[in-house]
This record gives sequence, C-alpha cells and structure tokens, in this order.
Amino acid sequence: MKLGIIDYMIIILSVAILGVAYVLFIDEDNSIGTLFNSPTYTVSFDLNGADSITANNVVCNNTRDGCVATLPTAKRNNGSIIGFSLNPDDKNALYKENETITLTSDMKLYVISSKNRIIKIDSSDVDFIEKKEVSCQTFNKESECQVELPRFNKKGYQNIGYSTTKNNKTGNSVAAGKDISVAKIEYLMGTSYMLNDESDNLVLYPKYERVGGSYNVQSYGLIHGNYVEYSSSCSINTIKGYLDEIYNHMPFLFTGAKINYVSSAEFNNNWKWLGEEAVKRVWAVTYTGYTDNWIEKVDDHIKPNTIDIKCDADGVYHTLVHEMVHTWDNYYSVKKGDIGPKVISRKNENGGYDIIKPINSMPDIKEIYDKYNTRSACSGKFYCARKISEFVAEMFSHYYDAFMIKKSLLKESDYPADIKKVIEKYICVAKNNYQETGCV
Ligand SMILES: [Zn+2]
Repeated sequence: MKLGIIDYMIIILSVAILGVAYVLFIDEDNSIGTLFNSPTYTVSFDLNGADSITANNVVCNNTRDGCVATLPTAKRNNGSIIGFSLNPDDKNALYKENETITLTSDMKLYVISSKNRIIKIDSSDVDFIEKKEVSCQTFNKESECQVELPRFNKKGYQNIGYSTTKNNKTGNSVAAGKDISVAKIEYLMGTSYMLNDESDNLVLYPKYERVGGSYNVQSYGLIHGNYVEYSSSCSINTIKGYLDEIYNHMPFLFTGAKINYVSSAEFNNNWKWLGEEAVKRVWAVTYTGYTDNWIEKVDDHIKPNTIDIKCDADGVYHTLVHEMVHTWDNYYSVKKGDIGPKVISRKNENGGYDIIKPINSMPDIKEIYDKYNTRSACSGKFYCARKISEFVAEMFSHYYDAFMIKKSLLKESDYPADIKKVIEKYICVAKNNYQETGCV
C-alpha cells in the first residue's frame, strides 16, 4: 500500500502512545516493508581474568534481521583469549571475538581466557630427563594449575629434586658416615606442584649427590616411575619382574625413588663404613627421610630417596617391598596432597610452613605400634621393630607376602587382625587417591 504523511503520523503517534520503540521500514517503492517490535539491548562484559577489552558494553543496532551487535576484542597479558561465554567458569567460548550476534534481551558475557604456565628444566647436567619442561593451563580467574615435576637421573648418584639456582652445592660425594645434606633442594621430583604467577619463567636445575662412592652401574631407565640402575653382575629381568609384581599389588609404592640393584660385594664395599659385619647382614639400605621442618629450611633438610639393594641376597622381593615402603612412608603427606607446592609456599594458618608427615606419624599407626611393641612376648615376632618406621615397613611387606602374593614368608594366620585392619585402611586410602572416604 501507499502511505501518505497522515498515515505516518498515525503510526508514530500510536508508537508514542504504546510507549515502545518501534522502527518503521519503508521499502524503496515507499511502501511499508516490515513493522516490528525492535527495542535495543545491551551486552555487558566481565573481564573474568583478562586484562582489557575494547568496549565495556555494546548496544545492538536494529536491522531487518533483529537487533545485532558485534562483540569486542579482549586481551590477556601473556595469555590468550578464547572468546565469550555466559558462564564465568567455562573453558570453551560460546561466541568468538568480533562475532556478530543477535540479541533478544540484555546479556552479560564473561571473557574466556587462558594462560599457559611452564616450568623449564635445565637438563644439561644429567643423563636422563623425562621431560624438559612441564606446563599446564589456567583458565579465567584460576590462579594456579598442577604439574608433576619430571624424573631425572644422574648415573651413579642419588637424585631427588631441583633447585632454582644453578651453581649451588651439588654433585658432591658426601664423606662416608656423615649426615648427607643435599644443598638447595627446593622441589622434589616426581611430585605435584602448583604453577602460578610466581612460578612463571622459572628454570629448575636437577640436584644429585652420593653417599660414599658411586656404583659402577648401568642405567636401565624408569620402571613404573622409579629409576633403576643395575650392576652387570645382576639380572635386570629379575628386578623388573619383582617391580612389575609390586606395581600390580601396591602401585602407590612407586614414588620416584631410585633403585640401585648391585651385588653383595659392591654393596658391602660402598657401605663398609657401617661396619663390615653389619653390612653383611644388611640386604638393602634406603637412604631417605626428611627432618621435621624441611620446607622451612629447605636448603639442607631433604635427604635422598634411594634404595641400594643386593641382587644376590635371599628374599630380595620381600626386602624390596620393605625398602619401597620406607620411601613411600616419607612421601605420604606429599602424595596425599597435604603438602608440596613450594611454589606457592603452602603457608599454614599459623604462618609457618606445612611439614611433611610420614605415614608412621598417623595416630592409628602409632597406636598399633605401641600396642605390639610394649608386649614382653613380642620378642622374635615379625611385629617387633626397633623403630616405628621399621614397624610400618615390615607390616606392609609382610602383608604383601601373606595376602597379596602368598609367598608365605608369613602365614595369613600369623598376621594379627587389628594390624591387618589398619594396614588395609592405608592401602585403601593410597589406592583411593588418598581420599579416606570409604576406607575406615
Ligand atoms: Zn627398614
């Protein structure tokens, strides 16, 4: 139809009376094309962790297709913009930057962005490194993400962790019989750390030391995350078989400790400072442990986590479990996640630093140890141990023998039911990703 000026005025008047903004489109032939409800809407933006945006809000323009708006662009320093979404926690974008969208209401959009966080490892000094860098991504307002620091190996040495300084005390052979103090270990290998703003651009240097001399060993490589070296007089296949079997039953015992599989002669020579007679009776040494406040005085309080074990001794499979329990024992609270991320310092409520707690500090373990070690009749029994850490190692390794592989160094019936209950609880907790729910 053809409209005259009066018709327009009537329409405009109607619009004013209804109080709604209408837009009238007139086709080229001066006829009315479309008449439709066309309010304008606003999109507002939340930076949601990004640093800047080209517009804090945009208003849509009415067109034949509706009220359309073109989204702005955003910027995240040292990160990237994924787009926009309705949910601040989304990791994928609903809309891209510069996308044109049609609005049917006001809308709030969150910028979706990410930041890649990387720790680089300077591996120039070691024989093996699992990865030369580890990285993870934080999204939006997340301040940290978790990585596991790679394993490395220096042949013949004990390897445990990293430092942020290249030229500090490292690679020393500590005099036999002296307390080892590995300098400037700030990060344990094979454990989880949180990367955040503080850790950006961090380079870590592997640190290693050796008590006594170093063995003339061959590198095998990682077996389920533990680095294995072996003497040519030992069968690597034998220890590999043991480790595979242990992994099937107690995978949590693989904490990244190093295992040196050597002959009795080599072992006795390396540890002879313990006393020639003593060293003949000992089948393995686990050099491990932390003092109570290692993370506060992180420079010198971590000890290596290395097992030296004789390949030609009897009952090596049992001894191996025993030694691996020692390494796991010390790592317990690290593995449990109670402690660890040095990068964010993990300060506790009291302003101090968290302390690594071994499994042998758990109240129910202590209780059962006290019960069985004060009995006068305990002499000669497997649960008589001179230290609680030895008690823990024996309880787990005898449990392994009796109930898991049934090689009966110990019969099931010899294993006290109350000890069994506590040990099974911690096996359950470890297998349950260190959640106690359902394990008590
Ligand atoms: Zn022991």
